Amino acid sequence: MDVFERENAYFFHTYKRLPLEIDRGEGVYLYDRAGKRYLDMFGGLAVNALGYAHSGVIEAIHRQSALYTHLSNYFLQKPQLELAELLIKTSGFEKIFFTNSGTESIEGAMKIARKWGDKRQKTDIVAFSNSFHGRTFGALSIMDRPIYRDGYGPFLPNCCVGRFNDAENLERGLSRKTAAVVLEFIQGEGGIRPVSAEFVGELKRLKDRLGFLLIADEIQSGIGRTGKFFGYQHFDINPDIVVIAKPIGGGLPLGAILGGRAVADILEPGVHGTTFGGNPVACAAGTVVMKEITGGLMKNAETMGVLLQSRLREFQKKFPGLVKEVRGFGLMQGMELNREGDTLVSAIRDRGVLVNCTNQTVLRLLPPLIVTKEHIDEAAGIMGGVLAETAPPA
Ligand code: PLP
Repeated sequence: MDVFERENAYFFHTYKRLPLEIDRGEGVYLYDRAGKRYLDMFGGLAVNALGYAHSGVIEAIHRQSALYTHLSNYFLQKPQLELAELLIKTSGFEKIFFTNSGTESIEGAMKIARKWGDKRQKTDIVAFSNSFHGRTFGALSIMDRPIYRDGYGPFLPNCCVGRFNDAENLERGLSRKTAAVVLEFIQGEGGIRPVSAEFVGELKRLKDRLGFLLIADEIQSGIGRTGKFFGYQHFDINPDIVVIAKPIGGGLPLGAILGGRAVADILEPGVHGTTFGGNPVACAAGTVVMKEITGGLMKNAETMGVLLQSRLREFQKKFPGLVKEVRGFGLMQGMELNREGDTLVSAIRDRGVLVNCTNQTVLRLLPPLIVTKEHIDEAAGIMGGVLAETAPPA
């Protein structure tokens, strides 16, 4: 059996794997078993912010794994402390809890919201249509897309999903019983859809009036990708809780919940916890990630993002019958097509560039933050060629 037959035989069929067998990565490139090179423009779906085989990450992992790969959370751990300090100082939040993944960060944030609401007779958690917050029951309870939810109910009570960007009707879904609103300011899996300024304005007004917590899901958009440390910083509002994951562990599983003053004293010993969350090797790698991002890569994300978006907008002008809209901030960009994107993605891949298709019709680009102008030119050249063959220019 070849590797794909073995995969099919042994694994639950949850993933639609790409027809590639990757051997190794270096910088923004992946290499398959035959040595063919691919320019990776989706970077492990926003995980590989420093690209592949980053020397600082490798060094930190080696150094820490020779000391200890795990202590229980009974122990204070220096790598956790160092990363926590960087995250707190950079974000301006007051407290942190480390997790292993995005969905665990969401679950933890929902638990904090419920605990906070418990003393205030506030039980409800509200999120928005077309969002993605993870695969565990809490996360699924605040999502609406059938592909993720069908067959898994019943879900958590007192959770509801309002219409994303429907400022006019936002008030209807919220009340004094609302403990928290969970929002992806720039929807990722949903097709790189930013929240509107009008919606944020209305949310702010209602937050002041009704007194709920705002939880920003920055799992995909956070840690410098959009050119600001958090995606919400493109808008005029301050969340009480931010959840992160994806790039923060330098490719190792790590996430975190950051909380502001309103929730700083909610948790006491024993009420929440994790065996692996805040793994010291992942935190050591994360410290390198933070230093690189705040030391220049966030700025690079901003400038390269402008360039990448301008290339995508050129496609929109040139191929109006194919490209409907271009959306995004920094190195989180989406190009919405007038048709399903899978065949385009395969054709682009065959020519050595990896892009992702999400929500059927959106080509999503989440390149490593180390990407340069040359990489963007290379990707745009190949994408442009494939688009031209698919739809004749206007
Ligand atoms: N929230 C957002 C915005 C995400 O993009 C993701 C993953 O894609 C998650 C939550 C879930 O994260 P994880 O897959 O690490 O559980």
